[in-house]
Amino acid sequence: MEKAICPKCEHTKVVKSGIIGGRQRFKCKKCGYHFTVNKLGKSIDKYYVVKALQLYIEGISYREIERILGVSHVSVMNWVKQYKIKAPENYDYRPTYKVLNHTELVKFMAQKENLTDTGMLITELGDKFMIIKWERFKNR
Ligand SMILES: [Zn+2]
Repeated sequence: MEKAICPKCEHTKVVKSGIIGGRQRFKCKKCGYHFTVNKLGKSIDKYYVVKALQLYIEGISYREIERILGVSHVSVMNWVKQYKIKAPENYDYRPTYKVLNHTELVKFMAQKENLTDTGMLITELGDKFMIIKWERFKNR
């Protein structure tokens, strides 16, 4: 990720504050000003490409990826084509996902039943975390 600078006071201590329309939103730690990075740098673009392709391989639909990441499903389709990604066909399990903040994630992980009989992947998503979970061992 590129370093963001507050456009109001030029302070460099900024924190991630959600995603709007596929763009990372930031909050300045000094003056509290909220801003998004106007022109996405190539490195930020790549961040979303990788996340989108991860989700695609996990069997999540284009529309769902659009909803999760805030990038258009057309972009995701183009990336899949561009990088020649092939997701395995005929899933006999369907992944579910949750988007949690850090506190919620810690609570979720503290419960042992959330971790048993399941496969799970945790990925950073802006200032939050996403758990992709699939219960692939349940019906076998
Ligand atoms: Zn500021």
